[in-house]
Amino acid sequence: MRKRPPIPALAVLATMAMAVTAAAPAPLPVMPPVDPAARVLVVAPHPDDESLCCGGLIDMARRAGADVSIVWVTSGEGFRLDAMVVERKLRPRQADMRLLARRRIQEAHDAAALLGVDRDHQYFLGYPDRGVLRLLLDRYSSPYRSKYSGADAVPWEQALSPGSPYDGANLENDFAHVIERVRPTLVLAPSPNDTHPDHRGTGILVMRIMGTRGEMDRVRFWIVHGGRGWPKPAGLNASLPQTVPPRGKGMPWEQFELDDEAREAKRLAVRAHETQLKVMGSVMMGYVRATELYSRTPTAQPVTEGSP
Ligand SMILES: [Zn+2]
Repeated sequence: MRKRPPIPALAVLATMAMAVTAAAPAPLPVMPPVDPAARVLVVAPHPDDESLCCGGLIDMARRAGADVSIVWVTSGEGFRLDAMVVERKLRPRQADMRLLARRRIQEAHDAAALLGVDRDHQYFLGYPDRGVLRLLLDRYSSPYRSKYSGADAVPWEQALSPGSPYDGANLENDFAHVIERVRPTLVLAPSPNDTHPDHRGTGILVMRIMGTRGEMDRVRFWIVHGGRGWPKPAGLNASLPQTVPPRGKGMPWEQFELDDEAREAKRLAVRAHETQLKVMGSVMMGYVRATELYSRTPTAQPVTEGSP
């Protein structure tokens, strides 16, 4: 067997140094604080997303004096496992799913109050959970019935347009109405890269309406369903910065730094979603970190030809 030539010590050290450099990516750019004169609109596909994505920013924006509104696109009635646990039913029926939605609407009100968002700045659209992408792509002008709630029109009396038939055009109209009312200078919306179809659909909805208004520069995108195992580690780690989710690779992320008060407000807001905590509490606490991540573009920026 041939003996290998000895590796010079300096070469070993250089290799180790390179490995350390590769393991520690450069820190993300810091997003500036929210302007006290800003009008912020958080667009949440479901009750709980407002806290998971943006609870810390909402709290700090409110304390700075900014105006913050939240719009929930669905009421979260499509989470069958949750209905089984919360309503203690092996086979939850449509009435159980509607009851779950009512609980989740109340939890969203409670979480928003903990973050300092006034009741008259909270908008529920009531479109079908797990139906947002279908409405926009397949049912723009034809009726849709939710297999979870049994409804084919907005069933919640506290919604913006109770009784509005479920189709993509009505969803767009209602969302545009909220934009017209709030006139946001900053919109926080889900990225179409998020793995949940309602989140992807909501991202597309925001891009359609804000794009038509020529106001895409006011939108910052976030990801909640970032790929298997993310956020990592699960559980409460409020002193760690949030990491870039696998689904967000290549996006131009900025980190928004949360002070201690904002981290605590976010923790309490997440905890307000009791129905969700029963099923996935540890995962939900993984969103309470020292930072929240936002991107100026909805997806990864394309690599132009000829670039390295
Ligand atoms: Zn969601």
